[in-house]
Amino acid sequence: MNPVCYLCGQEIVNEMPSGDHTVQQQFIKRSQPKAKGFDYGGKIPTHAKCNNRFGPEKMCLRALQLLGIDNQIYVNSKNPEIKIQTFKKEELNSFSKEDFKFFGLIDTPYENWAPNPDFFKDKKPVNVLERALNIALSVLTKSAAALLVKRYQISPKSEWNILCMPYKLQKATDDFDSIFGKTKPFDIGIKIWIKKYKNSEDFFVRYKNEKMLLIIVFTFSQDETCLKACIETFQEAGKFLFKSPKLMDLVNYDWSNNAF
Ligand SMILES: [Zn+2]
Repeated sequence: MNPVCYLCGQEIVNEMPSGDHTVQQQFIKRSQPKAKGFDYGGKIPTHAKCNNRFGPEKMCLRALQLLGIDNQIYVNSKNPEIKIQTFKKEELNSFSKEDFKFFGLIDTPYENWAPNPDFFKDKKPVNVLERALNIALSVLTKSAAALLVKRYQISPKSEWNILCMPYKLQKATDDFDSIFGKTKPFDIGIKIWIKKYKNSEDFFVRYKNEKMLLIIVFTFSQDETCLKACIETFQEAGKFLFKSPKLMDLVNYDWSNNAF
């Protein structure tokens, strides 16, 4: 039997499967994949071309960084339709020129733009945080799905019905073992708790990374038991939906415009 690519749900024939890391390599800073005290997700087969399409994945760490820092919105007093999302430069010290360009960030001092509405004339409006959120949710959801396929016998040919609820954490050190149960980290600060929801076919995945806790609900049951319970329970949380027969559609997926 040929292996099935979990990204597109099709068999891998006449080619060597490409190994996709279930937990993105960029998150694992320790040198050995298998190390005492740490969990190791290993790899999962994909078509090389499917795997390669997840290019912006490498921006996930940057996206998480952006989502974790405080930002402020300024409204230009002369042109109130101009809204400016600002970040402190020292929070973005590790960002390269390419990172700035990728997220549509402009590196310029306050005096340049604050008194001068013309500064924005030739610039395309972007929502930096929306872009960061879209990337972070897609990459972490893909990783959670990979672990479900690899460890929990979820078919790579599944219909994917996914609800994401992101939370910004106050401290990167917050641990949730006392609430979700003890689990080994994949690296320092990176933990994933996976539980079946009651006796249903649905799964509840909590993904903690940097300063974000992401609750991901995978609904496989027809009656959407877990999905409905979550929507009622987590009333205050942002809720974003993804529904597709293939995880490939997570590439460039606009979560922000699929808020529940
Ligand atoms: Zn594929």
